[in-house]
Amino acid sequence: MVTIKSKGEIEKMREAGRVAMLAQKAVEEAIRPGISTWELDKIAENTMRANGAIPAEKGYPSGVKGVPDFPGSICASVNDEIIHGIPSKNVILKEGDIISVDLVAYKDGFNGDCARTYAVGKIDKVTERLIEVAKEAFYEGIKYAKKGNRVGDISHAIGEYIHQNGFGLVREFQGHGIGREMHEDPGVPNFGKAGKGLRLEPGMTIAVEPMIMVGSEEILELDDGWTIVTEDGSNAAHYENTILITENEPEILTKL
Ligand code: MG
Repeated sequence: MVTIKSKGEIEKMREAGRVAMLAQKAVEEAIRPGISTWELDKIAENTMRANGAIPAEKGYPSGVKGVPDFPGSICASVNDEIIHGIPSKNVILKEGDIISVDLVAYKDGFNGDCARTYAVGKIDKVTERLIEVAKEAFYEGIKYAKKGNRVGDISHAIGEYIHQNGFGLVREFQGHGIGREMHEDPGVPNFGKAGKGLRLEPGMTIAVEPMIMVGSEEILELDDGWTIVTEDGSNAAHYENTILITENEPEILTKL
């Protein structure tokens, strides 16, 4: 179901988004060679709880028999891991790695969802560009996140930008409506046809999230039932914000 948020609800989404970004900031400041993704998870969780929120990803149902609910407070996806990496004491970051951190703060009945990819120390030029293009693709997409446009306008702009810059994109996972639920309608793919899909209206809140890779667009799921990786082992990056459709320009809700 697509939900249109009231003024009061939008205010709560701004606050959930602010806390989500506080957690991102805390994680970003802690990233260094030698830290585990489990430690980053705790930093994010502590930041959210200290600000009256809970980590909405923790306990998220897998929906698959035999696969446990998500155990982490963040998704921590290193190098060729695209999304849904499980934080672990055994995953220690090292110089030259990249890590995508996707987290959702739930506060006062509403969710704020954002993802960033961070460099651990010095990384190679192609991977630097990969991280930039994921972010730039988000901004290309939200140029079209305006009243009267359609979801496909956003999707098309994102997909074109990624391919024009020589990177691959993920088709199997997508952005989404967000509000009281972490995942609401509509789906917001990272590729598609301009002029197609749901018409955007003020009060809609959506998470727009390009997921891109250096090499082949083929992906795999690891045996843990969660982690999604590139089939060819090439690096992947993720950039996401929760945004509000307004009468004019979209507003980014996951901001400090
Ligand atoms: Mg997310």
